[in-house]
Amino acid sequence: MRKPFVAGNWKMNKTIVETRELISAMEQNLNEINGVEKVLCPPFVSLQAASELLKNTEIGLGAQNMFWEEKGAFTGEISPAMLKELCNYIILGHSERRAYFGEADALVNKKLLAAQKFDLTPIVCVGETLEQYESNLTGAVVSEQVKLGLAGLNADYALRIVVAYEPVWAIGTGKASTAEAANAVVKDVIRPAIAELYGEQTAQAIRVLYGGSVTGANAKEFCSQPDIDGALVGGASLKVDDFIAIVKAAA
Ligand code: PEP
Repeated sequence: MRKPFVAGNWKMNKTIVETRELISAMEQNLNEINGVEKVLCPPFVSLQAASELLKNTEIGLGAQNMFWEEKGAFTGEISPAMLKELCNYIILGHSERRAYFGEADALVNKKLLAAQKFDLTPIVCVGETLEQYESNLTGAVVSEQVKLGLAGLNADYALRIVVAYEPVWAIGTGKASTAEAANAVVKDVIRPAIAELYGEQTAQAIRVLYGGSVTGANAKEFCSQPDIDGALVGGASLKVDDFIAIVKAAA
């Protein structure tokens, strides 16, 4: 049995004061929803405030990105060792990192190996662009992202990773994939690629999320698909009622 999982990616939204307000507005209701792993991923500067508010709850905390070295002359970067003091999850390979900051699969893999070293649970994002989708390249692109991005992990850690299938054309556009199409990519592309790396048992045990314009209204369709284990939520994770509805749908 794979435990459902929902993470909210706040992206570059909310100041520290606003973080406190948003968490205070959703924390109690969110905490009461059982049977689903719940994670909030605010910006770096809000992690300390968020960790204080969430410390006696069942709500996890994650960061949206990190560097791969532990410390050193890397101006402006944040290391896994620093994050480990604040949170337990890390989003890696988000399509916005790939598109705006040139993060390719080899770099995602480097960061993932660093997350393994520091025992952070990763949410690794994969997904095709609109152009690739329209050229029927979804399978080839996503399979390669998984095989290159997720290579070289210890067997135990591989079991713990979370993968998010996020078609780039569905992120922040209001145009979600159909639930059936997303399920087919997870079942026929992502799990088989994981099986090639770590075997069938691991491929069936790993949580795979869908992300891309998930809302309180469509979450149930995605979460009731047999191979989709929850959602990575962007825009709707900033709206209390929507996010609660999504977590309830996953549970
Ligand atoms: C995301 O940023 O990972 C995401 C899925 O965004 P949205 O839900 O806004 O499409």
